[in-house]
Amino acid sequence: MNPLPAALIQDLVDANRILFDQRIVDAFGHVSARHPERADRFLMARNVAPGQVVAADIVEYEVATGEAVAADPPRLYLERFIHSEIFKARPDVMAVVHNHSPAVLPFAIAKGARFRPVCHMCGFLGAGAPLFEVRDSAGPASDLLIRNRELGAALATTLGDASLVLMRGHGCTVVAASLRVAVYRAVYAEVNAQLLLQTLPLGEPEYLTPAEADAARETCEGQIDRPWKLWKQQAEASAA
Ligand code: MN
Repeated sequence: MNPLPAALIQDLVDANRILFDQRIVDAFGHVSARHPERADRFLMARNVAPGQVVAADIVEYEVATGEAVAADPPRLYLERFIHSEIFKARPDVMAVVHNHSPAVLPFAIAKGARFRPVCHMCGFLGAGAPLFEVRDSAGPASDLLIRNRELGAALATTLGDASLVLMRGHGCTVVAASLRVAVYRAVYAEVNAQLLLQTLPLGEPEYLTPAEADAARETCEGQIDRPWKLWKQQAEASAA
């Protein structure tokens, strides 16, 4: 009787475990995937730490509202509107990762910092990530969380057609046309940030040009099953 696609549920469980094992999420952060047959719905865990997600935790959500399809759902993530509003604004997006990965944060804190790709694995960063200033929408006394549809819509507007949006003082949100690529991008956004933090004290970084970024993205993301299989095995070994 379960109408949800079993293979996608398994991939979502694996995505949660991988993101935790790769230290992209900790107790917080979440990952979602659009329903493959119903573009107006998406799947994401209930309110639980990503490293502990099992198949029974996966909830079906409405893109229109960011609420669960079921009438009496379990407790949901406060920031589920990040996912619903991006799925609404971006028909091309099939998966969304929201996290507070630690090396990326300084680029969402330092005034004037730019988060552009510096290595070939990070071409998805294109010409550089936009920065969402929550204060512009939520005023000067918010908790910085995307806790309603309006803030989610504002975040989606700042994301535009990019693959990653920085969230000032908070973290980032990464999108892709598949769940596996979204996970890959979240992992390599952290790598790009670490490389930048190591490079900046030495001198001005030589960024990839937008054309280099495009070419490198196509090459790397065309091999997405390789890192996915490795990371899945590592996550399973860590959890055992
Ligand atoms: Mn958050």
